Amino acid sequence: MPELPEVETVRRGLAPVVVGRRITDVETRRPDLRFPFPERFFERLVGQKVVSLDRRAKYLIAGLSSGEDLVMHLGMTGRFTIVQHGHRETPGEYTNTVGPNPAHDHLLLRLSNGSRIVYNDPRRFGFMVMMPHAERAQHPLFRGLGVEPLSPELAPQYLARRAQGKKVNLKAFLMDQRIVAGLGNIYVSEALFWARLSPNRAARTLADRRGAPTEPAKRLVPAIREVLELAINAGGSTLRDYRDANGVSGGFQHRFAVYDRAGQPCPRPGCGGTIRRAVHAGRATFYCPRCQR
Ligand code: ZN
Repeated sequence: MPELPEVETVRRGLAPVVVGRRITDVETRRPDLRFPFPERFFERLVGQKVVSLDRRAKYLIAGLSSGEDLVMHLGMTGRFTIVQHGHRETPGEYTNTVGPNPAHDHLLLRLSNGSRIVYNDPRRFGFMVMMPHAERAQHPLFRGLGVEPLSPELAPQYLARRAQGKKVNLKAFLMDQRIVAGLGNIYVSEALFWARLSPNRAARTLADRRGAPTEPAKRLVPAIREVLELAINAGGSTLRDYRDANGVSGGFQHRFAVYDRAGQPCPRPGCGGTIRRAVHAGRATFYCPRCQR
């Protein structure tokens, strides 16, 4: 499942091609993905200029000149491919590998610069919805979301305030989308490793008695930012069949410190511990019991 860094990588790949362009044609090859395509989808898209392409949590948001937002979620296996002059575009350092099976191309957008954006999604857990830009913050998909982990709003003071008195463990606290938006299983495991904090530690230890941030809270914020930025700079991680906007595998998967490394030696120099796999709320957590306290 694409996590935040993968979605951000897709956004960065698509933005130079779509922003400032007009949508000249829309072709849907089936009525639905996880949900039906929006009503009057064709009429609401064709003729509109894409004025922005943003990300909130794991949603891609195309701002249209009509004042509506096209909100896109990649689900488990969704991906966008840019097709220009009859072949897949490979901007930057990306090189093209295996293309998606065209049987799963569910949506085609044609743009005024002649390029096509193809949405392919074998498992169809992805979805697209439209809403007025002015109402987006209050839409059920967005109104409960916590802070963006790469924004200045994610600060030790914020974590301390939200964690005060919370009995849940740190893993569950950080996975809660109402606290930090878009942070998933992989990056929570990685951030806790770099912050040297056990996933089993009580979330309330991020705050002292007066509600001020503790040392762990101060270590956690830069650790979260660093694991996400490292993954974005590496082109997002690749898990299972996930690929980025250019149809190319991301390169982050070999750099995980603890995720999916159960039984291997802890990578922290001098630690000597062994990575352990634990299950929290049905999701696997990986950590080093020796140096994560
Ligand atoms: Zn260790």
